[in-house]
Amino acid sequence: ALAGSLRRRLETAGNVDLVARAAPEAVLSALGEHAHAVHGRVVQGRLEGLPLRVFCASEHDFGTVLVRATGSESWVRALGELPVSADEAGVFAALGRPPVPPCWREPEHLGLEPPERFVERRDLAGLVHLHTAYSDGAASLRTMAEAAIAEGYAYMVVSDHSQTAAYAGGLTLEALERQWAEIDALNAELAPFRILKGIESDILPDGALDYPDEVLARFDVVLGSLHSHFNLAREQQTERLLRAVENPYLTVLAHPSGRLLLRRRGAEADWERVLARAAELGKIVEINANPWRLDLDWRLALEWRERLVFSIGPDAHAPEGYADVAYGLWMAQKAGLPPERVANTWPAERWLALRERV
Ligand SMILES: [Zn+2]
Ligand SMILES: [Zn+2]
Repeated sequence: ALAGSLRRRLETAGNVDLVARAAPEAVLSALGEHAHAVHGRVVQGRLEGLPLRVFCASEHDFGTVLVRATGSESWVRALGELPVSADEAGVFAALGRPPVPPCWREPEHLGLEPPERFVERRDLAGLVHLHTAYSDGAASLRTMAEAAIAEGYAYMVVSDHSQTAAYAGGLTLEALERQWAEIDALNAELAPFRILKGIESDILPDGALDYPDEVLARFDVVLGSLHSHFNLAREQQTERLLRAVENPYLTVLAHPSGRLLLRRRGAEADWERVLARAAELGKIVEINANPWRLDLDWRLALEWRERLVFSIGPDAHAPEGYADVAYGLWMAQKAGLPPERVANTWPAERWLALRERV
């Protein structure tokens, strides 16, 4: 069985931990070249370039070994002495506690109640944040829409890049007019499925969005994102993000920090201030589901889970990208989000109503 940070669905994993119902010698020979050494009941080796640990359990203590190997260390330590049990449910029962899903076993979860129900795929009605061949996507608007329908979604918010994003084929007003005409035609043809006219607008260095107000007013949904100037001083970055959030046309603050996991640190900002302003103004904050991003960080989403509404954004550049929603859901679950905190569960009309408030 899978254990460790992979089972807890942490955003990055530095090792692979498994639990086997077998003796160390049997695991050692079964793993062949992947196994290097045995320390007590743990077989060590390497898998896909990562350190591998296989914790060996018996029929009787498999559940106990699985809880311990799943971690996190401090979360398991807080349980106290672990009873011996053949399965995990038995461990929790003997401790007199309800079972806790692996995603809710981080140090950050200590002392917190999980939500009554975590948001799941079946709760999601719409895809929010995707690109087409109008900017840097690989597929046509029609292909993206048909794929969304095939996956059971009721609507999608198309969000190609804005004009300053020349590197990504950002849309001029002329291109937008063509896209809107195509959306109108597809909406007539594909109803009741609905394509919402969105945009992923660059947040410019001074915090302005990337079109004049009269163009911004014509979108159903405006996502604002940082794509440049990640290294501004903290105070300046905070002011930039505040200005963007305060823009009446902004609907969603997308991949708020701009981080790329293991590759690029996100923008430094006073997130307390930025997220407080977003909450106050009823702005939606994205948990970008691209596995390189997973941004907003789930720890911040956890802190804000009762004050903000989030959207899970696949940031898809082809139909295959829709599958990344699963990673976004994992992060939303680690953040303890119930369905009602995730705007993808809304019907399309509720998104349109947000726009009419401007
Ligand atoms: Zn982006
Ligand atoms: Zn995007």
